[in-house]
Amino acid sequence: MKIICIGRNYAEHAKELGNEIPENPVIFMKPDTAVLKKGSDFYIPEFSNDIHYELEVVLKISKGGKYISEGNAPKYYEEIGLGIDFTARDLQSKLKEKGLPWELAKGFDGSAVVSEFFNKNEFDLKNLNFTLEKNKEEVQIGNTSMMLFSPEKIIEFVSQYFTLRVGDLIFTGTPKGVGKVAENDVLEGFLEKNKLFSVRIQ
Ligand code: MG
Repeated sequence: MKIICIGRNYAEHAKELGNEIPENPVIFMKPDTAVLKKGSDFYIPEFSNDIHYELEVVLKISKGGKYISEGNAPKYYEEIGLGIDFTARDLQSKLKEKGLPWELAKGFDGSAVVSEFFNKNEFDLKNLNFTLEKNKEEVQIGNTSMMLFSPEKIIEFVSQYFTLRVGDLIFTGTPKGVGKVAENDVLEGFLEKNKLFSVRIQ
């Protein structure tokens, strides 16, 4: 199983980090060992003093394929969920400055929170609200209508490069409002009104 992540898929978030709006999706990956075990706390790693949460809608690939067209893409995922793309922002900034890959800042153990998944037909994917609360306060409010690249466009794009397999996950990017976590914070992710996960920071 691989985890494909999209960067800068929400214009307001690209701006808050001082990035340009991309012409093509910005892609990076996390290894399968990045998935935080269900119900586990997230431990701030020693190599960072600036771990950020990034709440994202996650697609679960349900059919293998390559060179998938935008029009056929809906057949390749049946379920959606929520995730956090934990990012060592201090390390990422250093890597970006040097033009180096981001993996160390993005793919470390525990850096991918993944919720339960739900049938996508239960939701209006083009107008889906999702929210992150930190210590019961809303810190990120997103709506999929604000995506620069839709799930179908993303699947079309990435499947030109990577064969998609059943069980692969696609993190579709974060809206604005990313921020730092501290010990004892509790992060809770909501898809519409449904709470999908709760993670404590250690
Ligand atoms: Mg992200």
